[in-house]
Amino acid sequence: MHVSVDRDLCTGHGRCYVLGPDVFDADESGYCVVKVSEVDGDLLEQARIGMNNCPEDAIKIS
Ligand code: SF4
Repeated sequence: MHVSVDRDLCTGHGRCYVLGPDVFDADESGYCVVKVSEVDGDLLEQARIGMNNCPEDAIKIS
């Protein structure tokens, strides 16, 4: 599965990289960057948790 972040929607709450630190990271301003874009298993679960907890609906898994 492929995980992506719409950086135009991200406002830097940080929930994704706190809850899914192996998939998401913060840039120097606190906005989300994807560390691993092709995920399965535990990484997919982290990606889903991040997506489900993003208040801006900025994370997509396809
Ligand atoms: S939870 Fe959403 S808004 Fe917050 S840093 Fe992650 S992608 Fe951005």
